Amino acid sequence: MGIASMRHYDLSQAKGNIRATLGTLEEWYVLLGNCYACDHIGRLDRWALQLRYGKDCRIKALEHRLACTKCGNRLFNGFCIAKQKR
Ligand SMILES: [Zn+2]
Repeated sequence: MGIASMRHYDLSQAKGNIRATLGTLEEWYVLLGNCYACDHIGRLDRWALQLRYGKDCRIKALEHRLACTKCGNRLFNGFCIAKQKR
């Protein structure tokens, strides 16, 4: 799970659309993980997640699997959904 610059995403469009599944998330949205411990935000590969867990998997259900790429924290991390700028 790589880290990308936030300049490419419109975080004001980030939604708490937490009922969404990987399959219902529209393709111009990107999935970001936010670290509870250090507040780092990293981009996740939603397509890789969909391949692994299936398109009916609720995004929220994967939160406990998030691990921060900066500090390694695995507790209380959450997802954000942001619209990708074109
Ligand atoms: Zn962290």
